[in-house]
Amino acid sequence: MFFRRKKEEIGVRRRIVLTKQITDSIITYAKSFHPNEGILILQGKKDKNLIKVTGLVIPPFSTHGPYYSGFPMYELPFDLSYIGTIHSHPGGSNKPSLEDLNHFFGLVSLIICHPYEAQNIAAFDRNGNNMELETE
Ligand SMILES: [Zn+2]
Repeated sequence: MFFRRKKEEIGVRRRIVLTKQITDSIITYAKSFHPNEGILILQGKKDKNLIKVTGLVIPPFSTHGPYYSGFPMYELPFDLSYIGTIHSHPGGSNKPSLEDLNHFFGLVSLIICHPYEAQNIAAFDRNGNNMELETE
């Protein structure tokens, strides 16, 4: 079986924009869970190829461990403003694990790794490709 991708997914680089306030909240949250992983749902708006993160939601019934953080997706209310997740990596790498890609939710996955500074945040799409990230 061959699945054709939708046209707009081919060769289009999406950009993610984070406000200073969102970035600061992510940093504080990640630090508070260290040495475990923390996870948050990203709320935002998509305008063509620009995705702007406008809010963070603490997922219900989330689990946190040193190598895994997650939440049961069936507990989530259906909300079109949910555009992805951010989770922390207590280790020094902000690359997505296979587990991360298997649990991909929404349009974008952000990962922040130790020591949890703004430059430790990376953005990925469903295929594990790097997305351009801007901080306002
Ligand atoms: Zn991960």
